[in-house]
Amino acid sequence: MADNENRDDTKNSRPEGADSSSKRDEYEEICYMCRRPESVTGSMIHIQPNICICRDCMQKTFDTMNGGGFNLNDIMMNMNLDMGKMPNISMINLSDLHGGIPQKQKLKKKQPKEKKPAAEFDIRSIPAPHKIKASLDEYVVGQEHAKKVMSVAVYNHYKRVMADPGDGAEIEKSNMLMVGPTGSGKTYLVKTLAKLLDVPLAITDATSLTEAGYIGDDIESVVSKLLAAADNDVERAEHGIIFIDEIDKIAKKRNTNQRDVSGESVQQGMLKLLEGAEVEVPVGASSKNAMVPMTTVDTKNILFICGGAFPDLEDIIKERLNRAASIGFKADLKDKYDKEENLLSQVTVEDVRKFGMIPEFLGRLPILFALEALTEDMLGEILAKPKNAILKQYQKLLAMDEVKLVFADEALHAIAKKAKEKKVGARALRAIIEEFMLDIMFEIPKDDNIGQVTITGDYIEKKGGPLIQMRGIAVPEITGD
Ligand code: ADP
Repeated sequence: MADNENRDDTKNSRPEGADSSSKRDEYEEICYMCRRPESVTGSMIHIQPNICICRDCMQKTFDTMNGGGFNLNDIMMNMNLDMGKMPNISMINLSDLHGGIPQKQKLKKKQPKEKKPAAEFDIRSIPAPHKIKASLDEYVVGQEHAKKVMSVAVYNHYKRVMADPGDGAEIEKSNMLMVGPTGSGKTYLVKTLAKLLDVPLAITDATSLTEAGYIGDDIESVVSKLLAAADNDVERAEHGIIFIDEIDKIAKKRNTNQRDVSGESVQQGMLKLLEGAEVEVPVGASSKNAMVPMTTVDTKNILFICGGAFPDLEDIIKERLNRAASIGFKADLKDKYDKEENLLSQVTVEDVRKFGMIPEFLGRLPILFALEALTEDMLGEILAKPKNAILKQYQKLLAMDEVKLVFADEALHAIAKKAKEKKVGARALRAIIEEFMLDIMFEIPKDDNIGQVTITGDYIEKKGGPLIQMRGIAVPEITGD
């Protein structure tokens, strides 16, 4: 009879056991002692099916029992035990432990991320510059010169990475320095390039960097950011791109007697990174401390791109050009260049040096180019043309409600004109569109009969409303605000 009961017990417990093992897969295991999940502690030691203890707590238990005499890892190794299974450890009173951690205290395991779509290019078989530029063209409007320079530089850089250094002729690194007004697409160009090449990208602001030992981020932190972007894969990180924005903010401070910890010193500190050095960086943290593991990353093959708006650089260029125009045989009007737009495209290393960048720093960024300020026409194009243009995004949103969204040409011009006035480049576009699309996105889903909405120039200029067309009826109706 007792036998039968036992058998019944096992019968009943089997489905439960199967159930709990599937639950164990779904939920994180939690240390019975410190209550931390396995994502934090690492693998656990199972004492009973429902009870597990993390390595730290197990070590602490050993330490308390033996006055710190032996090490958990040594024991594991000597006993040749797998960390996941360590049966029959009896330093805890197991009769006190019943069901393990209650279900409501468990953390759900993170789902593995979806597989990324395949990259357009492979850095091992890097495509010709014209192909890189053609891909950039799909996303970035205008900036023809910048796209051309970048395509060639990236092409050469990855050829250099793949090249056999055996023949003695080492190709120089193609780090870049780009100069361009705010919102002209500097960050966007780099982001698009990294996406196309499927290489990790770290974007940092030079303003947050300071000389080691001062408040702020150490210069090496840019490399640990890249390592994080490469999912802690050192080899992938060593082929990545680091974009340092606002580089003009670390220009040498003029007329100062104090130590320039966030200017010239940062430039000095970056020299060895730019050229290629083995740097020790913390893994999974931005600052070094005793608790964080360290690893070494070689920056020799990391492509550095620095960018900045360099305000007042135009004045330096203008001054140089005016000076050159007013002397010698080619003497011309003294203020010939005063009204010229896009002076930045004539930038030289000498101008940037005068701005406050030190020559050693500039020497390590051999490719210098400028982005043009966006014109009204370019802004209009940015709205509608690129693969993920803002208008296409709104059209897709409304298409989900089966409503067609149309933008009249005058509307595009009106938005571009408003954006140009704000003088923050393409950044202004989204803010302007959000403002008037709010009403549309709120009102349209109210009425299922609406089939098409046309945004007119008058609506943007607040002189009228959008053109609403009902489903099946071809009579346009104009509604006021
Ligand atoms: P910055 O030059 O200040 O780094 P960003 O690259 O951050 O400017 O540009 C801001 C946004 O404007 C980008 O996210 C992008 O959507 C848009 N943008 C800027 N320039 C262009 C361009 N030439 N073509 C397409 N979109 C652009």
